[in-house]
Amino acid sequence: MGMGTKLKLYNTLTREKTGFEPIDANNVRMYVCGPTVYDFAHIGNARPVIVFDVLFRLLRHVYGDSHVTYVRNITDVDDKINARALRDFPGLPLNEAIRAVTEKTETQYLDDVKALGCLEPSEQPRATDNIAQMIEIIEKLIAKGHAYRASGEVLFDTKSMADYGQLSKRNLDEQQAGARVAVDVHKRSPGDFVLWKLSDENEPGWESPWGRGRPGWHIECSAMSGRYLGDVFDIHGGGLDLIFPHHENEIAQSRCAHGTEVMANVWMHNGFLQVEGRKMSKSEGNFVTIYDLLHTEVFGGRKWPGEVLRLAMLMTHYREPIDFSIKRLEEAERLLAKWPAADAGDGTVDETVLAALADDLNTVGAVQALHALAQAANADPSVLSRFAASAELLGVLPKKAQIDDAVVLAVDALVAMRLEMLKARNFAEADKIRDDLSAKGVQLKDGKDAATGERVTTWEVKR
Ligand code: AMP
Ligand code: ZN
Repeated sequence: MGMGTKLKLYNTLTREKTGFEPIDANNVRMYVCGPTVYDFAHIGNARPVIVFDVLFRLLRHVYGDSHVTYVRNITDVDDKINARALRDFPGLPLNEAIRAVTEKTETQYLDDVKALGCLEPSEQPRATDNIAQMIEIIEKLIAKGHAYRASGEVLFDTKSMADYGQLSKRNLDEQQAGARVAVDVHKRSPGDFVLWKLSDENEPGWESPWGRGRPGWHIECSAMSGRYLGDVFDIHGGGLDLIFPHHENEIAQSRCAHGTEVMANVWMHNGFLQVEGRKMSKSEGNFVTIYDLLHTEVFGGRKWPGEVLRLAMLMTHYREPIDFSIKRLEEAERLLAKWPAADAGDGTVDETVLAALADDLNTVGAVQALHALAQAANADPSVLSRFAASAELLGVLPKKAQIDDAVVLAVDALVAMRLEMLKARNFAEADKIRDDLSAKGVQLKDGKDAATGERVTTWEVKR
């Protein structure tokens, strides 16, 4: 393992790029906020999934596959889900309608991100399986004077935390001045946020010390990260839009409940995927779903393979904005077409690729180094295993086409027949076999046996 590799990561908490020191090198712990499962994920939502998948792969490479725990949650309780359940399944009892929405969306999400070459996280907890943990944290917050009850809600008291605003660097006065913070009369301060709210009969709810109700969004991540990764862990990630209020409030809850200096040591945030300079989002209406890109022809009049979408994403540094365009996808596709297909194997990762990734996930440099390596491997097969291992670290290794044994036998027979034709100087027939195979996607390569000087022909399936 490359324990000698020194990782540097940009930390939103300190606004600095610093050397990464895990709390426990035998169990490096990372949490990334996952989807709210009410609708198809758009390609902007795919960005954090891909970025943190590369980080997961890198951490596994450096610390060992079994020494990294990556948790990505599923938010399956949310008012947007309720609304969707009522709209799409008006005939069903609410709980069943909600389950229908969340299960369908979750399955779709997992299919989508798998097609984008992402490994499964170590844990994918659902919010609804962690209600007891949420209640426990809220009870602690009340007991310690950080939360209060008002008008059927339990609220976090932002004024009770001296250094609230650590991550976003906003102070409370700025937030109060901010016009976007709705002033609710029942709140002690406008920035106070919901930990628990009571549900009426037509809303999903769980029994709690404060009555039947449901959790606020932020408390879900405090509960699930704490359960699987402990009170303080190494890395917490998500998109830029989550810094405030979501991550700020996760920090407030977890630190105040557990009495810790930090919730996670390193906070990482990916930039936005944009369309014509504007963030891709459901509310802007400028979104295209991962599903549609993969399976329909709505974008550029054609389908796009998952590898192309993934590589296109990695051709920009994760903290920079990406403008999503057909041109960018075509560029990624042209690059991939020049790379050799291979099985992952057990080759050594190239030092240049590794050094680029270790420098705050410089995937741009890593892709450049990988391309140089691909060209070298095309000229010299002994480089192929290094290329394969390096491409696998980024999750962009072109896979060898899978073909049936029966097809292999048939092609082998045709190739042998062609060699006979060539020996008999029947070039027209030999060429016809080669062209027929080529039309079916099988590429022949003629060479000479080094020892005997006899013609040998190998073949591969063109991608
Ligand atoms: P949401 O479903 O809106 O909570 O988003 C899920 C994840 O996708 C979060 O980490 C967001 O920060 C991220 N995200 C949403 N929109 C974009 C975008 N246009 N570009 C990059 N990341 C995004
Ligand atoms: Zn979260």
